[in-house]
Amino acid sequence: MQHNLSLKPYNTFGIDVPAAWFTELTNVSELPGLTALPQEKFILGGGSNILLTQPVSGLVIHNELKGFAIEKEDNDHVWLRVASGEMWHDIVLYAINKGWGGIENLALIPGTVGASPMQNIGAYGAEVKDVIETVSFWYWKERTILTYNNRECAFGYRDSIFKSELKGKGFITSVVYKLSKYPTYNISYGAIQQELEAMGVEEPSVKAIAYAVMSIRRSKLPDPAEIGNAGSFFKNPTIPLAQFQHLHDQYPKLPSYPVSDTLIKIPAGWLIEQCGWKGYRKGDMGVHAKQALVLVNYANAKGNEIWQLSGQIVDSVKQRFGIELEREVQVW
Ligand SMILES: Cc1cc2nc3c(=O)[nH]c(=O)nc-3n(C[C@H](O)[C@H](O)[C@H](O)COP(=O)(O)OP(=O)(O)OC[C@H]3O[C@@H](n4cnc5c(N)ncnc54)[C@H](O)[C@@H]3O)c2cc1C
Repeated sequence: MQHNLSLKPYNTFGIDVPAAWFTELTNVSELPGLTALPQEKFILGGGSNILLTQPVSGLVIHNELKGFAIEKEDNDHVWLRVASGEMWHDIVLYAINKGWGGIENLALIPGTVGASPMQNIGAYGAEVKDVIETVSFWYWKERTILTYNNRECAFGYRDSIFKSELKGKGFITSVVYKLSKYPTYNISYGAIQQELEAMGVEEPSVKAIAYAVMSIRRSKLPDPAEIGNAGSFFKNPTIPLAQFQHLHDQYPKLPSYPVSDTLIKIPAGWLIEQCGWKGYRKGDMGVHAKQALVLVNYANAKGNEIWQLSGQIVDSVKQRFGIELEREVQVW
């Protein structure tokens, strides 16, 4: 247990605030002891989806639960149970090397396995909910582990029961992913197809697709090791068809993706860019020059400065387009 530890190395935004108390969790058997402590608990994985706006007054539990094993297997699938402190991308690499499909489009997303169901991580036309079989969850209050099946996780777009109803109530200890031995490939999204061609790939494979996704991501997204950020700061908003048609009359170039017959998804990055924020910088904080959805800390920005900037962006998008942006990043 450490006291007054700076969390700067533990969050990809690189925000420097202290945690009153800090500990590493390396074994599930330590959970009952931690549960008994009086401090409010904050669970920290890779710190790649949080914005620290103030000192953390309780106990930060850094997830170091490691290990994975095949739970069962049949001719078509393998069920892989993974401890929640494993790094997500390491599991993607493991799966693609085995030729198991289902998570190749989600390569290079930072963070831990435990956070993957939290916000139902997604990228390049895939979401982790499509391969999650169960999630095991330690309850602080009841002091027991319960297992949630896929339906009970209530997954939505960057959403789940762990981010809503169960927020703050416990700790995801492990996740079981159902991976496919004979995967169908999803290469229609973004530039995957072009990237595969540029790589000279004629027959796609899970490995080739993951490598294509990694290459595209490296060219588009800032590396937190170089510039502090937490990936997409906002969710892409979904609006009713009638509102979309009205906006489209005013902005014929408005990009859109149908979600259903009545709902349309709009890229938040486009809206933010239209409001003139792309490349904005004030002191050490700003909006990335290549990707307007990513807010950045160039050196020593404060978390609450970035929070205020995000508020200004929300206001200007609301004023111009009548759309309320929702933050994807968790604010502590
Ligand atoms: C460069 C970059 C690119 C990104 N690209 C994507 C992307 O393409 N798609 C995408 O979906 N996300 C993306 N993200 C966001 C981020 O990587 C994911 O949300 C990731 O799942 C966060 O994992 P983490 O371990 O870092 O979570 P943290 O930031 O440590 O935690 C996030 C939240 O989850 C909670 N939490 C973490 N672990 C547990 C647990 N075991 N039990 C209960 N609660 C827990 C924390 O308390 C916190 O509230 C990106 C981030 C960066 C920096």
